[in-house]
Amino acid sequence: MSSASAKQKISQSGERMTALERVRNIGIMAHIDAGKTTLTERILYYTGVNYRIGEVHDGTATMDFMEQEQERGITIASAATTCFWQGCRINIIDTPGHVDFTAEVERALRVLDGAVAVFCAVGGVQPQSETVWRQAKKYGIPAVAFVNKMDRTGADFKAVVAQIRDRLDSNPVPLALPIGSEETFVGVIDIIGVRALIYDRDSLGSEYSERAIPLEYVEETTRARDYLIECLAETDDVILEAFLNEGHISDADLKGAIRRATVAGDIVPVVCGSAFKNKGVQLLLDAVADYLPSPMDIWDIHGHDPKTGERMSRHVGDAQPFAALAFKVGTDPFMGRLVYFRVYSGTASQGGKVLNPRTGKIERFGQLLQMHADRREQRDKIFSGDIAAAVGLKDVATGDTLCAVDAPILLASVSFPEPVVSMAIEPRTSADRDNLTEALSTLAIEDPTFRVRVDAETGQTIVSAMGELHLEILRDRLLRDFKVSANVGRPQVAYRERLKGIGEADVKFVRQFGGRGQYAHVVLRAERCEAGHGVRVESKVTSGAIPRDFLPNVEEGIREVAASGVLAGYPVMDVHVDIIGGSYHPQDSTELAFKVAASMAFKQAAEKAGIALMEPVMRLEVNTPEEHLGDVIGDISGRRGQVTEVASTAAAVSVRAYVPLGRIFGYATALRSLSRGRATFVAEPSHFDDVSETEQNDIVGHRTII
Ligand code: GDP
Repeated sequence: MSSASAKQKISQSGERMTALERVRNIGIMAHIDAGKTTLTERILYYTGVNYRIGEVHDGTATMDFMEQEQERGITIASAATTCFWQGCRINIIDTPGHVDFTAEVERALRVLDGAVAVFCAVGGVQPQSETVWRQAKKYGIPAVAFVNKMDRTGADFKAVVAQIRDRLDSNPVPLALPIGSEETFVGVIDIIGVRALIYDRDSLGSEYSERAIPLEYVEETTRARDYLIECLAETDDVILEAFLNEGHISDADLKGAIRRATVAGDIVPVVCGSAFKNKGVQLLLDAVADYLPSPMDIWDIHGHDPKTGERMSRHVGDAQPFAALAFKVGTDPFMGRLVYFRVYSGTASQGGKVLNPRTGKIERFGQLLQMHADRREQRDKIFSGDIAAAVGLKDVATGDTLCAVDAPILLASVSFPEPVVSMAIEPRTSADRDNLTEALSTLAIEDPTFRVRVDAETGQTIVSAMGELHLEILRDRLLRDFKVSANVGRPQVAYRERLKGIGEADVKFVRQFGGRGQYAHVVLRAERCEAGHGVRVESKVTSGAIPRDFLPNVEEGIREVAASGVLAGYPVMDVHVDIIGGSYHPQDSTELAFKVAASMAFKQAAEKAGIALMEPVMRLEVNTPEEHLGDVIGDISGRRGQVTEVASTAAAVSVRAYVPLGRIFGYATALRSLSRGRATFVAEPSHFDDVSETEQNDIVGHRTII
């Protein structure tokens, strides 16, 4: 099945080689350790991109090309790669499994059309799979599921299918069944082709023999096929008619219906195998080619006119004006800045002009590159549906639109979660000082969940990110990629402030500097809002009270205070501010005066409303042998955690809980000693919650010591 000729097909010059309906832009999403990297390697091997199978544990895996990833054995950056299967061009964006890097997942999902969700046949649906699944749902991305590791002790295909239904609130429909399990797992049954694929041990899985379905699996296969048809009949007229008339349903009709149902998000096709033991991967590739959407299935892309803000849409296809979304900005030691983007409509050529509607600037594509994990191939021209990288774009950040100069459109950007961990950082030597500032700002452009700010009171530089590991990786990158040494403080909880209720303030700012006076008068009301509201400012005044020209300054004053905090220097979340009154002086009113008056008024209003500190709460899942269960639960309670579920699986007991982030720093060490190294855990940011009054006083009292 592996074909060396596929390798040549990747080279493209001026002509489109794959029709748009044969393009698949997919992501592979999984809980860490579910086998995503191994699976990707196998896919590249069977599709002829790699000649050698790289193993994760020997550090040669193609997709994990950053040094830190090879050392840690985890996938961090989204690498993009291309391969071919059954006449389809499959562009794979590798998405990280570790939740500290959710931003990577989020931006990858934004530009994908479909996903492969990998589950471990033993571990099943784990918390991070839930997180990524929710994100995929948010973007409406159809998925096929691959139940991996069918060769492992404790593998249970049916249990994982049930978990996909219950925990992920989806409609999984098996298209494959395992033959044997654990060490007797020898192959898979193809429910649609009604055949058994039995794998030959010596060919690294590239060859298998097709046989009739073993007798003991006939009944199960029939049941699975009937179930598939019943599910499809619920939403598909072609199948419903054949089902009611008890007519024959051809494979082509069946595949067509599965595709429609998958693209609509009504079902999730499930196949299974063992990436490590080279089994079942071809059936997964067939499912990607047959059922996941092409860019044509999206048909219309939506955005706004950058000038008027009016909604607009555009068909996909090469004949349309160019529109693409930059979903990642990276720095390459040799090529400099690389902007990765997904083309939605139109084509672009090397050296061509492109507009960035955010900055209003026209830029020029330098080289255009097709990425193959650690290898790059130069392209003269790129087409709609492509995922490519460009050299030479100067002022482009993650989430920016790139579009034709004469047909501007602003596509919806990517939304990112709030960072939860901060630490102070300072240059080690004076030579590092200048470079540190520049390196940090480059990192912040590349990664929107990494933020840098200078604390107004202490003057320290504070960096915030999604978790301890995220901070550690960024510090490594400072040293390796930017050659900057830095001292860092202990990771701290990135608290937030929120209003307790409503507060109003009426502030007049009147000063006399030399001859000229300063006058501004602002009345506003600030009100606490639902989580996710953000900071919003609305003007309800007539221009007789505050002239329109000063409103941006009023908003700026409010936003500055909201960003730097009112109580203890932490950003204020979810507040709605109405500007309800004010007055001005024809000579003395200035932009500065309105900004100052507004910031004083917002501060006063917030203080009147009362301010509470909020802390990030983590969703924790611990897997422990039964004998340590009591200790694990006791310890979670000691950390102010709330246990929400205790469930037994074949191999262990899993405990789910919510725990304040501040209480699980260093949890890895504590859990290791509690369970003699046998329990494992994952924790991910869940939401923000109020801290208790006593703790709030403590935090406010100690806040200068970061
Ligand atoms: P990722 O974190 O999801 O990228 O997972 P990896 O591909 O790095 O795999 C994690 C570990 O599981 C590695 O040690 C793999 O060798 C192993 N692994 C992956 N797939 C399988 C499989 O199908 N069966 C078994 N037994 N082990 C597997």
